[in-house]
Amino acid sequence: MPAPAVADALPAVDARLPGLLPDACLQGATLWIGGRWEAAVTGDALPSINPSTGQILMSIARGSAGDVDRAVRAAEAAAPVWRSLDGIERGRILRRCADGVRAAGRELGLLDTLESGRPIAETSGRSVEGVARLFDFYAGLTDKIRGATVPVRSDATAMVEREPYGVVGAISPWNYPLSNVVTKIAPILACGNAMVLKPAELTSLAALRLATVLAEAGLPPGVLNIVTGGGADAGAALVDHPGIRLVSFTGSTETGRLIAARAGGRLIPVVLELGGKSAMIVFEDADLEAAARASAFSAFGNAGQTCTACTRLLVARSLMPRFVAMVEAEAARLVIGDPLHPDTQVGPLASAAQSARVRAFLADAPAHRTMHLPNYHPLPGGYFHPPVILADLDPKDRIGREEVFGPVLSVFPFDDEAGAIELANDSSYGLAASVWTASIDRAARCRRELDAGLVWINAVHLLHPGLPLGGMKASGLGSEYGMEAVECYTRPKSSIALHGRWQPPYPDSSGSAARGRAMS
Ligand code: NAD
Repeated sequence: MPAPAVADALPAVDARLPGLLPDACLQGATLWIGGRWEAAVTGDALPSINPSTGQILMSIARGSAGDVDRAVRAAEAAAPVWRSLDGIERGRILRRCADGVRAAGRELGLLDTLESGRPIAETSGRSVEGVARLFDFYAGLTDKIRGATVPVRSDATAMVEREPYGVVGAISPWNYPLSNVVTKIAPILACGNAMVLKPAELTSLAALRLATVLAEAGLPPGVLNIVTGGGADAGAALVDHPGIRLVSFTGSTETGRLIAARAGGRLIPVVLELGGKSAMIVFEDADLEAAARASAFSAFGNAGQTCTACTRLLVARSLMPRFVAMVEAEAARLVIGDPLHPDTQVGPLASAAQSARVRAFLADAPAHRTMHLPNYHPLPGGYFHPPVILADLDPKDRIGREEVFGPVLSVFPFDDEAGAIELANDSSYGLAASVWTASIDRAARCRRELDAGLVWINAVHLLHPGLPLGGMKASGLGSEYGMEAVECYTRPKSSIALHGRWQPPYPDSSGSAARGRAMS
């Protein structure tokens, strides 16, 4: 492995990283191409920063078009072999990937925490198990991807098969580093595609360790390739590469629009999982205690950096201001601070830029009261932000309509069910919604009327690999999870086999043709 050209200029590596990542990665060779660690062709690097402290963890290769090209070629070489494995064998490999993730759970969780600031209790527990289950779920589907026969005519057999696209380009965001990438990897590979992944530049380390885990589990070289680097260079080059047959993107709506436009120019399909400003509706008959806990968890968990976070709280007017006080009390119970401490429930924002974005939104918002937060213990240098509740907003205020992606909850009162639904749907987004009521009839009406890809009733953030998640409106196109992801990552191919002898559809002219020849 050649040492990266910039090795001398690389900053020191955080003392916790040796042992968590291969030595080549620690020296800046973070491109995983054809089963080998490579440095960027340009030798350029980017820092990976611990958001809890603001300290540099290590450098990653800043991939560019040349690196993307190498990765796509490696994927193209591997794709036919991977596709031709029978489904049971592909499933067996993916099941070993699930086992590998569980076995490396502590290391993967620690990397996730170091680079994203998510609490270690979550990253090395519930979260890593969720990632393993994604591999389990899709391992079970590889041999069940079926087509159909179509009764077109009695003397023919017509069928529709689902086939992989070939090489898929996947681009992921930073808010849940490991699960964001596996949400793409597991179904894309299960469907028989090879892929090139560009993880978020802020959080690539867990994905790098994952590459070694999957290789050890038996994933053939070249089936998964990783190009680290920025969106404008590596990301854009991936979308534009002629070898990429489908782009699967998770990230902001703004970037999603750009990618869809570029992919549209190339006439390749996109799967887009984008932003949200989800509503939680609390009716008078709700279990208020559970609803208040759920609201604080949804809006402030992961420091508000969850695409499906219910950041708009719609409360029956008669419950105001009592319910807001209940949510505030729940927020005050959250243990916010060092994500490596086992009791911490919420860590910092993911970057200095994200911190500046949240502060800029709040600077423009109406004045708000600072909450009493006895369990808020930010680390020096980290990008921490306390939870904020805005209860006096006008529905037209920007902060109540746009995705802040920080711990900011906007509260709006409503007068009746129709008003609640109208307020909830008055958004350019349509990712998720949560309804709290004791009435089964009301819950059913809300579920039907809400413009959201996923509606939770008396719950928040229940996700399962089998339940599709796909946004409406500006929240996306296509679905992740479930059989629906298989439909996104395979395409239909029709074929028809005639049993008898083929005849043209017009009247038989063989006699007149013969006469013509005889006359000439
Ligand atoms: P982002 O759009 O800035 O970046 C996402 C990814 O796109 C990164 O890897 C980035 O490098 C890349 N990128 C940026 N510009 C690009 C370009 N021009 N071409 C190609 N790639 C480019 O988003 P983010 O700030 O990393 O993530 C936060 C956003 O992600 C939020 O809006 C959040 O709601 C959304 N998100 C959505 C879901 C979902 O399932 N709907 C899940 C997680 C996050």
